[in-house]
Amino acid sequence: MTYVVTENCIKCKYTDCVEVCPVDCFYEGANMLVIHPDECIDCGVCVPECPADAIVPDSDHAATDEWLALNRKYADLWPNVISKKAPPADADVNNGRSGKLVEFSAEPAQESQEFTAATVQSE
Ligand code: SF4
Ligand code: SF4
Repeated sequence: MTYVVTENCIKCKYTDCVEVCPVDCFYEGANMLVIHPDECIDCGVCVPECPADAIVPDSDHAATDEWLALNRKYADLWPNVISKKAPPADADVNNGRSGKLVEFSAEPAQESQEFTAATVQSE
């Protein structure tokens, strides 16, 4: 079993989830996160932290084979993310909006990497 990030994370990416994950198994794309299914220990603590209600257990109907496959694929391609970042400016506007899958970006996170490294170093 694993937990799965689903559609409503797209363009929301609040990253509250990464702060609580005990095994740091979130990976960051340009406009959403995914969970590595082989690293997730099924603790479920990230679920109530997500303001977008985007994280579900793989037993949930929203955790389709497509979302499971997407999480697995991009967890191997995107950089690990372990600390909270500022959400997109329009995250609240996009929270709950339907039809976001077509807006999914396969690109890895890039724009805030230097900022994040500097932030971690200064902590
Ligand atoms: S808290 Fe929810 S919306 Fe935000 S990055 Fe994590 S899964 Fe995505
Ligand atoms: S269920 Fe637990 S281990 Fe899995 S992603 Fe969420 S916080 Fe991390």
